[in-house]
Amino acid sequence: MITASPSARLSSPAPDWRQLWREAVTDPAELLALLGLHELAAQLPPNDAGFALRVPRGFVTRMRHGDARDPLLLQVLPQLAELAEVDGFSMDAVGDLAARESRGLLHKYEGRALLIASGSCAVNCRYCFRRHFPYGEEMAAAGQWRQALAHLRSDPGITELILSGGDPLSLATSKLEELAGGLADIPHVNRLRIHTRLPVVLPERIDDAFLAWLAAIPLQKVVVLHANHANEFDAAVDAACARLREAGATLLNQAVLLKGINDHEDALVDLSERLFAAGVLPYYLHQLDRVQGAAHFEVDDGRALALVEAMRARLPGYLVPRLVREVAGDRSKRPL
Ligand SMILES: *Cc1c(COP(=O)(O)O)cnc(C)c1O
Ligand code: SF4
Repeated sequence: MITASPSARLSSPAPDWRQLWREAVTDPAELLALLGLHELAAQLPPNDAGFALRVPRGFVTRMRHGDARDPLLLQVLPQLAELAEVDGFSMDAVGDLAARESRGLLHKYEGRALLIASGSCAVNCRYCFRRHFPYGEEMAAAGQWRQALAHLRSDPGITELILSGGDPLSLATSKLEELAGGLADIPHVNRLRIHTRLPVVLPERIDDAFLAWLAAIPLQKVVVLHANHANEFDAAVDAACARLREAGATLLNQAVLLKGINDHEDALVDLSERLFAAGVLPYYLHQLDRVQGAAHFEVDDGRALALVEAMRARLPGYLVPRLVREVAGDRSKRPL
C-alpha cells in the first residue's frame, strides 16, 4: 500500500505504473479482507492450480464491498471449481503451440501476424488460456524480436502486426520503442494493433512516455481493450481511453462471455453503452476458450446466441459485438 500522508500525496506526482504493478494484491485472503469478505477465506481452494491471484489495487477499488458475487471479484478470485477436471477442457485450448512460426510469432490468419510480446499481465483472469501456457522466457521480449521481425520482413502478405501476450503493455516503453524501430523499414506492415487489458486494470500505464511513443508511430493504430463488465470503468479508465484516442488510436473492446459475471442481457447492454461512453466500440464477444479450470464460467451456445439477440433488440447495430469462438485450425475466429 501507499503509505505517504494525504498531504504528501497531494504534492507528489501520480505514482509510477511499475510501482502500482508491484503493489498488486496477490494474497486471496488479503483481497477478501479488503472487501469485507473474510468469511469466504474458508472456501478458497487449497492451492492456486499454478496460476496465482494477481489484481491491481485500483481494480479492487471498483469492486463492491461485501458482495461475494461482485462481477470483478469473480474474474480474479481462485475458486474450488477450478480444480475440477472437465471433459473437453484442455491445456492448449486454441492450438497455439502448433501455430508458432518463429519464436513468439503466431501467423494463423491471413494478413495478420500476432506477436506474443510479453508473457506477463497486471491481472490474472481465472478464465484465461494463459493459465497453462508455457510462456516463461520464450517471449519475444526476451530478445527474440529479431527473428519475428525477420519473418515479418520476408512475408509481404502481412499488413498488420498485432502485439499481444500476455499483455504487451507490461513491457517498458523503451522496449516498445525498440520494436517500433524494427518495424520502420517494413513497408508492407501498415497497421499496428495492440491487444491489452492494462488501460482497464491499470490505467496509470497510459502515461506521457507511452503516449508519445504511440503518437509517433507512422502506422494506423488500433488498441483492442479487454473489459467484461461496465463496472470495470471509472474516471481514470475514461481518461486513459481519451488519451489513447488523442494519440491516434481506434479503440475496440473484446469481452469474454462469463457465467455469473456478464451472462445477462442487462449486463451486456450496460457494457456496450459504457464502452461507447468511453469512446470504445465493442468488437468481439468471445465464447471462452475451453481451458482446464475454466469450465464453471462457460455459457452454452444457445444461451449465448439468445443474449446477443436480446442485445440486438435493444442497441444500435454498432454496439452489438460479434459472438465468436476460436477453433484450432480455423482461418479466422468462428462466428456463432
Ligand atoms: C484472434 C487472433 C488474431 C486477430 O483476429 P481478428 O479477427 O483480426 O481480430 C490474429 N492472430 C491470431 C493468432 C489470433 O488468435
Ligand atoms: S491475457 Fe488477458 S485475459 Fe489473460 S490473464 Fe492476461 S489480461 Fe487476463
